[in-house]
Amino acid sequence: MGVPLDGYTSTMRIAQLAPPWIKVPPQSYGGIEWVVALLCDQLVARGHDVTLFASGDSDTAAELRAVFEEAQTEKLGETLPDALHVSAALRCAGEFDIIHDHSGFLGVAMSPFVETPMLHTLHGPFTHSTRRFYGEFADACFYNAISEYQRSRMPSLRYVNTVHNAVDVKGYPFRTDKEDFALTIGRICADKAQHLAIRAARAAGMRILLAGKIDPGADSVYFQTMVEPLLGDEAEYLGEVPEARKRELMARARCFLFPIQWAEPFGLVMAEAMAAGTPVIATRNGAVPEVVVDGITGFIVDDTEEMIERLFRIDEIDPGACRAHVEANFSPERMAAAYECNYETIVPKAAEPGPDDGPGRRVTTQGGPAYASLCGSVSKSANAPARAGGARFVGGHRDRYRRDNLPDSPRAG
Ligand code: UDP
Repeated sequence: MGVPLDGYTSTMRIAQLAPPWIKVPPQSYGGIEWVVALLCDQLVARGHDVTLFASGDSDTAAELRAVFEEAQTEKLGETLPDALHVSAALRCAGEFDIIHDHSGFLGVAMSPFVETPMLHTLHGPFTHSTRRFYGEFADACFYNAISEYQRSRMPSLRYVNTVHNAVDVKGYPFRTDKEDFALTIGRICADKAQHLAIRAARAAGMRILLAGKIDPGADSVYFQTMVEPLLGDEAEYLGEVPEARKRELMARARCFLFPIQWAEPFGLVMAEAMAAGTPVIATRNGAVPEVVVDGITGFIVDDTEEMIERLFRIDEIDPGACRAHVEANFSPERMAAAYECNYETIVPKAAEPGPDDGPGRRVTTQGGPAYASLCGSVSKSANAPARAGGARFVGGHRDRYRRDNLPDSPRAG
């Protein structure tokens, strides 16, 4: 990916803005939250001053600031919690050299009113509506895609380098002695097409285990009509499994099936399975060719027939090659170094004079003291908002960890 792992030059004050819906890291579902968790810990280890805005039940090496004590999962998608959470972070903007936004649309929409440069990671796919939205804010902040495929779908935004997502590769068990079942884990939905994974495994005479959350609405209907009728002794649905069980299943499985029918922007589960030494058979959609190396870490196929055929050849794939591929390309260290390079590109660029009133010029500074009541804080800055009634600092233990372990040199860690 051409990212110098030692290209680091200076300590930065970095705000990471996670969504408020799921804690960081997640207990089960939550790709964005894993990426944010790994990134925060890596950036702290590299000597940066990192503040994470996330729900108060998060666990991070960064300084944690929270409006909500607990993740707002039940309110997912509602505007009010999102607005409170995002505005709380952005009113602290003046404390940071850069704000790295992983949340939904509010951060981008508010970025023209924030002086501190902002990088928004595009975690989701482009749709008709989101294209229109991002088009309005094409130059209002900086963007990075999580795959080259995703970037190619809307090349007009002000991009810095693409940064692939990372996996906690050292935390994944690695097994070469596989058990005789195929596995698929992910949100149960038509896009991920779990029914095709069952059909393929059945046709190849291999048992299959499925795990993943089922959201109400269309996903629930998909499960009831397309997946449930196919379940039986040889195709078992395990529900939404906790993180440790997910990793263990991934390590035991003979292969991971990913018959997606949509343009997956990255597909973290593929990298997770490979980290556990498990080959992936995935359909040629979205970022799949950037994540799986055909014939080396699994197979990229065009349809279910080809998936069945490759299932018979799965022993050709070396589990060690799968793990090595993730270590080399999707490690937290590599991701953090790539983001660090992006920050270093953005911060001087943002300071350059721009065209009068042109897009991307930030027009106001961060909010004033009224903001202080929103967000729990332990900032050491004299100008930082004071802790006020209702706000709660969470993460003091981690802040101590950070002080005790802060390296002398920013390169350490
Ligand atoms: N995941 C999980 N439980 C589930 C579904 C998914 O733990 O029921 C995890 C999965 O392992 C991955 C993340 O949630 O870490 C989903 O990321 P991915 O990019 O694969 O899918 P998406 O974001 O499209 O749901």
